[in-house]
Amino acid sequence: MTLLRQNIRDMQGYVPGFQPPDIGSWTKLNSNENPYPPSPRVRDAVLAELGADGASLRTYPSASSQMLREAAGELYGFDPSWVIMANGSDEVLNNLIRACAGEGEEIGYAHPSYSYYATLAEIQGVRVRTFGLTDAFRIAGFPERYEGKLFFLTSPNAPLGVAFSTDYIEELARRCSGLLVVDEAYADFADANALELVKKHANVVVTRTLSKSYSLAGMRLGLAIARPEIIAALDKIRDHYNLDRLAQAACLAALEDQAYFRECCARIRETREWFSEELRGVGYNVIPSQGNYVFATPPDRDGKRVYDGLYARRILVRHFSDPLLAHGLRITIGTREEMDATLQAMKEIG
Ligand SMILES: *Cc1c(COP(=O)(O)O)cnc(C)c1O
Repeated sequence: MTLLRQNIRDMQGYVPGFQPPDIGSWTKLNSNENPYPPSPRVRDAVLAELGADGASLRTYPSASSQMLREAAGELYGFDPSWVIMANGSDEVLNNLIRACAGEGEEIGYAHPSYSYYATLAEIQGVRVRTFGLTDAFRIAGFPERYEGKLFFLTSPNAPLGVAFSTDYIEELARRCSGLLVVDEAYADFADANALELVKKHANVVVTRTLSKSYSLAGMRLGLAIARPEIIAALDKIRDHYNLDRLAQAACLAALEDQAYFRECCARIRETREWFSEELRGVGYNVIPSQGNYVFATPPDRDGKRVYDGLYARRILVRHFSDPLLAHGLRITIGTREEMDATLQAMKEIG
């Protein structure tokens, strides 16, 4: 089909995690979703925005999502000119590539990490360079000076769960000629984050999502924090009405209810620590995780066998066929009850 660009013809397309149609009959621990509902204020705000007859939907939403930039800026300690809202953080990851890298130019990221970066690069016709991770969870062979236009650092790493130290991220920022984009999709479950580095280094961008820690994967809400010059460039590229009215109402309500948010995150962290210890007790290797998931390897290093055993019991976790990851499983942290049932099933499977 020569009507299409060569790179689009050649690409595979991203395959999202499996979402079973009969979702209610599964214990779903495969997409790092939050087991708790969003703040009750989110539902109220969405219904209020909709109104009795839905007439609010006749008119376009705020193009800039200005109130959300102000709320997020206040929460994270930045002027709103340092914040951009996104239709899921995936949107802003895409626009960061489009802002920095032209066709044939290079971006980099660690492997394993979030495989969607590769798809976004392919669409843009950008070359990709991947770096492995060392046993000490450093970027293997990272050059003294990395000349690529952009480097994505997923911290905490997905799917392994390890967070990079702020000192190490700062060292990488110094060694990058282009942007260092710290994808902090899971930072709300971690002990530290890289926000202070955005203030210190002109080339550091932090991205966040409300999909995981705020239980809003279904609303598509993310954001980026960076220098105003970078934000202004991203504003030129994005869809001008990128966040719909209901999403904006949901976002504001979710960010405002910090007490509820902190309570949910604390519970997930507590369950994560308990589940990790229990799995270690039955011989699993569990990488210490700073996310809402763990990467766990059974004693026989046959992740697929345990995946199949759990699948037969209608517990859905994530197994990657990639040879670097096939020995283990990525398991999302659900409620304490769900993790109890999962642990019992894993003991049965052996
Ligand atoms: C889930 C996830 C995203 C995407 O977040 P959305 O806001 O749902 O688009 C980005 N990066 C990583 C590492 C993720 O795990």
